This record gives sequence, C-alpha cells and structure tokens, in this order.
Amino acid sequence: MSRPDLIERLAVQTAERAQAQLQRRLRVIERAEGPFIESNGRRLLVFCTNDYLGLAQDPRLISALKHAADASGVGSGSAHLICGHRREHAELEEALAEWTGRERALLFSTGYMANLGVMQALLQRGELCVQDKLNHACLLDGAQLAGAALKRYPHTDLDAAARQLRSDVEGCALLATDGVFSMDGDIAPLRELATLCAQEGATLMVDDAHGVGVLGTDGAGSVAEASLSERDVPVLMATLGKALGCNGAFVAGSATLIDGLIQFARTYIYTTAMPPALAAATHCAVTIARNESWRREKLNALIQRFRHGAEQLGLPLMPSRTPIQPLLLGDAQHALEASRTLEAQGLLAVAIRPPTVPQGQSRLRITLSAAHEEIHVDRLLEALASLRLADAPV
Ligand code: PMP
Repeated sequence: MSRPDLIERLAVQTAERAQAQLQRRLRVIERAEGPFIESNGRRLLVFCTNDYLGLAQDPRLISALKHAADASGVGSGSAHLICGHRREHAELEEALAEWTGRERALLFSTGYMANLGVMQALLQRGELCVQDKLNHACLLDGAQLAGAALKRYPHTDLDAAARQLRSDVEGCALLATDGVFSMDGDIAPLRELATLCAQEGATLMVDDAHGVGVLGTDGAGSVAEASLSERDVPVLMATLGKALGCNGAFVAGSATLIDGLIQFARTYIYTTAMPPALAAATHCAVTIARNESWRREKLNALIQRFRHGAEQLGLPLMPSRTPIQPLLLGDAQHALEASRTLEAQGLLAVAIRPPTVPQGQSRLRITLSAAHEEIHVDRLLEALASLRLADAPV
C-alpha cells in the first residue's frame, strides 16, 4: 500500500490557506520600547499587545529578573517535582493565591498548558464539559485531550448552557468560560454562570487570562470584580504573559484542587519549571499590579477616549469595556487591507481572520495599554478615520 506523504499533505494545506489569503505570517521585532516596536527598519506604534498595564519593560521587573538570575542562574534545570521548584516559584504562588483570594495557586509554564492540564486532571473520559463557543482554543483542546463529552453553547447564552448542563451525560460536569473573551473583549456573565453551576452540581472554571491585572479594584480580575468566591468559582486560571508583562500561568483554588493537580496534571508534571528569575520578576509585577491602581485608571480613561472617538466616527465597535476593542469588519480581505493601510501610516493593529474567528467576522483586534498616551489614541483614531471603515459593509 502506498501511503500519502504527511509533509506533502501539509504543504498542500498551507498552499490552500495562502490561496484563500488566510495565511498567517511571522514578523521579526527588532526592538520594543514602550508602545513602539521596530520592525523591518520601521518604527510602529503598537495596538495589538496584551501588555495591558505596560509592565513588560518596567525597570523594576528587569532588575528583579537580573538579580534573581545572578543568584539562581537561568534555567530551573528540571520539572517542579524533580528539583526545579525554587523559592522564587513558591513565593510567587503564595502571592498569586493571596491576590486572587484563593487558598493556593500553582504555576504552569504557559496558559495553554495550564488549561490542558486542568481539564485532563479533572475530567474523565466521556464526562460533560460545557463551554462558551468563543472560549480560547486551549480550553477546547483541553476538553478534547481529556476525551470529555464537549458541548459548546452559543456565546454567553445562559439558557443554552443550562440545557447542556442538564443533558443526560453521566458523571461529573465542568463548565469552562473565558472571564474576558480574547477576541471580543466582552466579559462572561459570571454571576449567572456561578448560580447555574451551583444549581446543576457542575464545577465552574474561569480562564481570566485577559481579566487579571485589568479588572477589579486591585486588579484581581473578572471573578473578583463579580465578587465571586472560591466556592462559586472553584477553578480560576490566569496567565502571566498579558497584564503582568511576563510569561507563564497559574491555577488558583482550594488546597485540595492544587494537591490534585500536582499529582495528576500531566502538563505540570512532565515539563521544565519556568525559570526562577522569571518567577521573581513576575512576583514584582504582581506587587506593582496590585498597588499601582493608577495604571488601571489610566487604561480605563484611554479605553473611554478610544470608544468615544470611535463612536463619533461611526466605527464598528463591539460591546466591550476592556482593553480589547475590536472593530468588526466582516470580510477577511477587508480586515487585512485595513491593517496594511494602518501599518503604512506607522500603526500596528493586526487583522484577526478565520479560523481564529468565525467566517464573516474578521476584525481589527485593537488593544489598549497603560503604556499608551492620549496622543497615541488620537493618532489611531485619525488613521482609522482615514480608512472610511464606517462605510464598510459588515
Ligand atoms: N487563555 C486565553 C483566554 C488566552 O487568550 C490565552 C493566550 N492568548 C491563553 C489562555 C494561553 O496563554 P499562554 O499564551 O500563556 O499560553
């Protein structure tokens, strides 16, 4: 039997994607400085990072990283359970638990791995996993990896979620939702979901990758903003590479949850612990994110300035009060052209196209940061005005 060649098949798929003009492209960034980057010899004002509090280049984080590297070296040398679990990790976990009001927290090397690990550790084959249709890809992948009976309800549709939770799939049930939706910027109806899960005996998991640092009075995230306790949201996951400006992720919850993850989450057990110096820098970022509420205030003022200006221009805003402020353009080619025109004017806002978002819902995913100034938002609005997006068919 002659088998088709795997790599050749992949090449055909790649060519098809290019033909559909949906190819993803890598860009080398030479330098990053505040909200600017240098790429291909050009300086661009960036509106697409997740560095919402402007901490990624904070000198205090850099100094914490350098100090810890001087003391502990670069790599952790092994997985946490072998001999990679350093004091820096333990202290960061304590700080994260305290911040989010949870008993314990556990570090993972990335958010993607945290979600895969949680799902695989909690769910047994064939058990019910109910998810919002717009959840991040790694929550969906996690449910698939666990072999769960995955049911996806239309975005924030509580009735549909209730119906799915009442389906006759036997065993335990997990309902997982993004806290802030990564491509739309809106916030999940967390209080209602918590009530629903309590009624139906399901466990609620919130991925607050885009909420932690940004929402809530001291930045503890969407779950804290909704005043939901560990009982309401037993599984809280968030990433460290967005508002905290670092890298990695954590899961916070009861000691029982964390002890169980240490035993059973394969993406925790079988991978190298994050560099301890990075944990030290992240700890510094947590302290700053908690204490410097002016960053959230500045960010919120910039968000309002952008929305006000965009409304006046009739731009296709989406209902979001978070730093994720997409402009829904519909057609993939149209979104790509808008992004290219902005880039020609020295602004970087990438087009998000299928399969990342549904067909016909391509958009410019504009994100704002406390690293921006009003003058930057005004420059963006001016450039957007020149694109005549208001006239575009969605
Ligand atoms: N969850 C959400 C909601 C995300 O947006 C992302 C990253 N884009 C992740 C998880 C994955 O996190 P990481 O980048 O740390 O793997």
